[in-house]
Amino acid sequence: MAATGGTKHACVRVRVPSKVNLFLSIRGERPDGYHEVMTVLQTVSIYDTIRAELVGPAAAHPASRRFMELAFTQEATDGVPSDGSNLAVRAAKGLMAATGVGSADHDGQADVPLTRMHLSKRIPVAAGMAGGSADAAAALVALNDLWSVELDRDELREIAAELGADVPFCVTGGTALATGTGTATAQVLTRGVYAWVVGISDDPLSTADVYRAHDQVADDRTFEPDAVLQALRTGDAEALGAALHNDLEAAAFHLRPDLVDGKEALLDAGALGAIVSGSGPTLVGLASSAQHAAAIAGEVRHRFDRVEVALSPAGGPEIISG
Ligand code: ATP
Repeated sequence: MAATGGTKHACVRVRVPSKVNLFLSIRGERPDGYHEVMTVLQTVSIYDTIRAELVGPAAAHPASRRFMELAFTQEATDGVPSDGSNLAVRAAKGLMAATGVGSADHDGQADVPLTRMHLSKRIPVAAGMAGGSADAAAALVALNDLWSVELDRDELREIAAELGADVPFCVTGGTALATGTGTATAQVLTRGVYAWVVGISDDPLSTADVYRAHDQVADDRTFEPDAVLQALRTGDAEALGAALHNDLEAAAFHLRPDLVDGKEALLDAGALGAIVSGSGPTLVGLASSAQHAAAIAGEVRHRFDRVEVALSPAGGPEIISG
């Protein structure tokens, strides 16, 4: 891994998109309790932002980075921890451990370099849109730049894989086929831009609860992603709408029967297809254009706590200002 280099920015802001699963098939449970999956993920244009800033005169000296301290704040968001368990903080600690930043004890030193990291959330929490994973990816990209540690995306993805199944995908973004526990990803050829109506519920669903319910309600059928991959290759929104599939949907419906009505409402309003995203409870409906999505959103707005129109694919984590 690369060593620390020179200062580039005193402040970095990274915008990171959320994701939807266009296809999700559970392939069995491993002895360690994790599930094997085959899933097609695509980023969508609902974003969180992380701002990271170096503070104090010592922060200007690359050699002093070994003494780095980290302070984390966030806009108060229900259900999101503001301590060391926040995935953005865990990602920062992972990057520190991998690069030696913050590795030295500075006892007694008056002038300690500090990194302030601030999280602003728009991605709904515990909603099947990989909000925490996206924040972890954003932290890795922001601090990699701020600290000039110059790891490449593959090296960041290695740290990401230790943090959660969706984090490596969130580091790269775009559209990917993920296998194993979800950490092994291959980019997928995709044409066109897709417009979504995103129906958000304020009542979160725990991913662990949904997997547990899946183990009780699932049948034995195994689905393949071919139709989704073919639709993406040709940019055929209608075919994509028909091919959307999520093995976890039945479990999410089992825990939250109201979601069945939400899906019906999206389809009745003209969506080409509708699906629970990941472990839910977010529902996404595919439209034929952004205008079509806005029209559907108008019709179903009263069914959800929040409705957004979003586009996919939405790229990956992006430095939007230095
Ligand atoms: P996934 O689809 O990856 O399972 P999700 O989108 O359903 O995740 P998240 O928004 O990532 O769910 O939140 C899951 C839990 O993770 C939250 O309930 C919260 O306790 C914890 N968490 C830790 N860090 C974060 C973060 N930065 N943003 C949101 N939740 C976080």
